[in-house]
Amino acid sequence: MNQAVQAAPVAKRKPKETGVPDNKKYLHPMLAKNYGNWKYHDRPRPGVLHHVSHTGDEVWSVRAGTARQMDVYTIRKLCDIADKFAESRVRFTIRSNIEFIVSDEKKVAPLIAELEKCGFPVGGTGNSVTMIAHTQGWLHCDIPGTDASGVVKSLMDELYDEFRREEMPNRVHLSTSCCEINCGGQADIAIIVQHTKPPVINHDLVANVCERPTVVARCPVAAIRPAMVNGKPSLEIDEAKCMCCGACYPPCPPMQINDPENSKLAIWVGGKNSNARGKPTFMKMVASGLPNNAPRWPEVADAVKNILRVYKEDARPWERMADWIERIGWPRFFEKTGLPFTKYLIDDWRGSRANLNASTHIRF
Ligand code: SF4
Repeated sequence: MNQAVQAAPVAKRKPKETGVPDNKKYLHPMLAKNYGNWKYHDRPRPGVLHHVSHTGDEVWSVRAGTARQMDVYTIRKLCDIADKFAESRVRFTIRSNIEFIVSDEKKVAPLIAELEKCGFPVGGTGNSVTMIAHTQGWLHCDIPGTDASGVVKSLMDELYDEFRREEMPNRVHLSTSCCEINCGGQADIAIIVQHTKPPVINHDLVANVCERPTVVARCPVAAIRPAMVNGKPSLEIDEAKCMCCGACYPPCPPMQINDPENSKLAIWVGGKNSNARGKPTFMKMVASGLPNNAPRWPEVADAVKNILRVYKEDARPWERMADWIERIGWPRFFEKTGLPFTKYLIDDWRGSRANLNASTHIRF
């Protein structure tokens, strides 16, 4: 081989940066100019934020709800609205709302009229019910027990007016989780799938599909053991230990836990991520075993609307869901909402011994 060819430098692949891109170049010019220099902001009406900078510059952000999972035609329509009625700059909030930024107050009313004409509700600011933060469901998650996007769509149809108004005592964050173990976070009201039976194992597939040690290690309560079944290496479950979390299903799909009869929905309330005015709080389950009743989930919608109605009537101004329940107490919460308090709301996971011992009420 000729020496020149041998000495040719080998082009090395450069590492690809995959972090969050720098957003400064995409900002509305008025936002870029006044970055970090805002004096105050107010809300002239639900769905509109008005920011005033120390230089006297002003911008209005008009917030509209979206269906979150959007096709290209809907995205084009939103972009056309941004070009014709705003100043061609938009941003998405963490709850999948789209915000149009304008630097002229005269543009706000025609923009809102066009958005509402096209079916995008304007709201989601202040003391409103927010758009539901949700997981991906059947769209592209490998462990869903339900279609979170479907629950969101049907529930937001019911709560449409609460998104457009600011009539709640405080902000109400909603979320849905299509499994019990991954996405979700803490919300004032959360809808979470609830498996009620241990997985049924398809032993014919385990040896071909699953790394058995990985599955055994995945179980948080050590309920899975390796086993030989019909002469083939497989797994077995100690059903007395299993808490039906579904964690074994992603690394081993033959551990079938999804079931039209026994995979239900539960409602949790009183969670909060922020430190604003009070400490962050964990949600507690208040309704269990609701049917996973696609495509409109009427039982879940009724339960959520009932909790919201009682909270709206009974909470004091600025009380978040957790603050309100803390003030009236859990027994009054169940009395006022009419939700039945059942044995399924008590933590029966084997780790509950530690949980209960940590409370001031129960010692054993
Ligand atoms: Fe373990 Fe959860 Fe699977 Fe039950 S469902 S066997 S608790 S990982």
